[in-house]
Amino acid sequence: MHRLQNPGRNSGKATGVGQSATARYIGRFAPSPTGPLHLGSLYTALASFLDARSRQGLWLLRIDDLDAPRNQPGAEQAILDCLKAYGLQWDGEIYYQSRHLTDYEAAINRLQQHVYGCVCSRKELAAYPDVYPGFCRHLPRPQIAHALRIKTCNTVTGFTDAVQGEIRRNVALQDGDFIIKRKDGVIAYQLAVVVDDHAQQVNQVVRGYDLLDATPKQIFLQTLLGYPQPAYMHVPVIVDRHGNKLSKQTCAQAVDLHQAATTLHLLLFLLKQNPPPALRTAGVADILDWAIAHWRPGQLVGCPGMESPPDRQSKMSLSTDSKITEK
Ligand SMILES: [Zn+2]
Repeated sequence: MHRLQNPGRNSGKATGVGQSATARYIGRFAPSPTGPLHLGSLYTALASFLDARSRQGLWLLRIDDLDAPRNQPGAEQAILDCLKAYGLQWDGEIYYQSRHLTDYEAAINRLQQHVYGCVCSRKELAAYPDVYPGFCRHLPRPQIAHALRIKTCNTVTGFTDAVQGEIRRNVALQDGDFIIKRKDGVIAYQLAVVVDDHAQQVNQVVRGYDLLDATPKQIFLQTLLGYPQPAYMHVPVIVDRHGNKLSKQTCAQAVDLHQAATTLHLLLFLLKQNPPPALRTAGVADILDWAIAHWRPGQLVGCPGMESPPDRQSKMSLSTDSKITEK
């Protein structure tokens, strides 16, 4: 990803992702039910929630449950329980991706002239880890099981991220023809998120820096489908002491539902919101009220990754204990 710094626009004073004067802010949080929320996912949820609430916006909840084999029994309930315990109350009905399969197929139909079938195996593509070499681009639609790829074109896609600044990417050269439906029939994340954001009228996307590379591909699809482009804010991700993003794959522990106030205070610290020490003893509702009133995402400008500060990290149990504690 080629990043152009634009300090004049983003230095310190950002107050939220850009929005038009007329449209109501609609943001969302979209966890996968593959496990309970860990500190890293809660951090992103909190940033998204605070940005929405500080702009009198709606904050929607979408369950990213398309990849059924990865879904874990009980994970969705654990996520909902966690959001409630932390006071992150969403607006309206929960949106389940698995109930919108016809919407994704309709979008694929609309993209038909830009789509082709690909029968290449993982093994065949092993020598091309970054960009698909286009082997199937000009072949007729295969009669056997195949993935669907989108034909990218050699143009630059750009956007202004509220924290990361100006982003420019040539999707054809840097990503290649990417998959919108997998060979096993599962709709790819890139297409699903574009269709869902449009369906839910989401106009403000706040999510982790690890998804920054996905955004130009999603904008590419939005353009082909004629959808409006949301504003974006990619916040840093929390990494462990080895520099790995906290994730289910790195066995990050679920956050403790009985330490909500303490953990919220820590998350605000990690979001560089400078919560006053006195807030440590406040309740969840009071902490969130303070955080909404004082939300300054511009404080995150210039920190693409985020490591828990060493003195804090030594006091936090991120991987071995059953709860996050802070002295
Ligand atoms: Zn192929």
